[in-house]
Amino acid sequence: MFGKKTVIATNSWFGNQITLLEERGVEVRLLPDRADESFLEEMKTAHALIPGLLSVSRAVLENSPHLVIVAAHGVGYNNVDIPAADELGIVVTNIPGVNSDAVAEFSFGLILALIRHIPSFSEEMRKGGWRRPEFWGMELRGKTLSIIGLGRIGSRVSKLGNAFGMKVLACDPYIPEQGFRIAGAQPVSRDEAISQADFLTLHVPLTEETRNMIGTRELAMMKKTALLINTARGGIVNEILLVKALDQGMIAGAGIDVFEEEPPQDRRLASHPQVISSPHIAGLSNEARYRMSRGAAERVAYALKGEMPPDVVNHPQNPRYPRMA
Ligand code: NAD
Repeated sequence: MFGKKTVIATNSWFGNQITLLEERGVEVRLLPDRADESFLEEMKTAHALIPGLLSVSRAVLENSPHLVIVAAHGVGYNNVDIPAADELGIVVTNIPGVNSDAVAEFSFGLILALIRHIPSFSEEMRKGGWRRPEFWGMELRGKTLSIIGLGRIGSRVSKLGNAFGMKVLACDPYIPEQGFRIAGAQPVSRDEAISQADFLTLHVPLTEETRNMIGTRELAMMKKTALLINTARGGIVNEILLVKALDQGMIAGAGIDVFEEEPPQDRRLASHPQVISSPHIAGLSNEARYRMSRGAAERVAYALKGEMPPDVVNHPQNPRYPRMA
């Protein structure tokens, strides 16, 4: 249907929708998540790339003369060099909302695990113990949940917070008043959100503006009893400063799903006794993985037909895709 076209996808795409492309006569090559020499060689003939977690640098894009589309399989696309894609006329897409429920629910999973010490009880039981310490943990009702970034995931978190009977505050300078009302959150400034939180949860993208958004000043502003949750992106919280804040008792604990370097070489944050961590897994429910897999394949199919796919996130100059028709 598309003529002879090649799609490169990396193993982290969970490509169980390969057939959706293969049945249209497209060759799909699954490669490891490494932009090494053999990967660059393969890219010379590729028309589409589903990069998964691979970093798509300018060098990768410049080396791909036939590439029409880079289809991110999730919400985030900060692993793609957008200015380079713009210049080269390569369309970049994402899949908004693909795993909002999964991430929102996982954020509460981290909160509940932290406040009721569930992992350590489970560990104790596995070893044959039956320890019931004095401190059994707190409840959510009446506590303040502060959300930074009230988009798709943040709004879902807000609704779950309301369901738990929490007071929900949110900071997001880019959405209208109505967005706060619909989500059930009270709009506040960033400093108010940070200083009033019993639970501070981050749901912003990683941008120049949000990088290191939580640093010394912000950690010092938080309640000593507060917990910080980051299921958004590594780099939004300054990891070294967070470890320091935990060591110095500036905050009580953290739930961390995302790291500046993944997997992290420096394990101080991931293995900190007051931290519950996970390997960037918040968005990966069975349902979300299916949608991520299918969504990326569908966007590639659009582009290979010469049609503009949905959810283009960049502004390519002279897009290459019409020439595919
Ligand atoms: P979204 O675009 O719907 O919402 C992001 C919100 O952040 C927007 O409303 C935006 O206005 C707001 N924002 C941007 N800059 C801000 C700032 N400086 N201060 C306050 N608010 C700001 O995105 P989403 O679908 O809700 O996803 C949010 C982030 O979650 C993604 O960018 C991604 O990095 C992360 N994510 C993580 C996983 C995971 O597996 N851990 C999965 C999916 C998404």
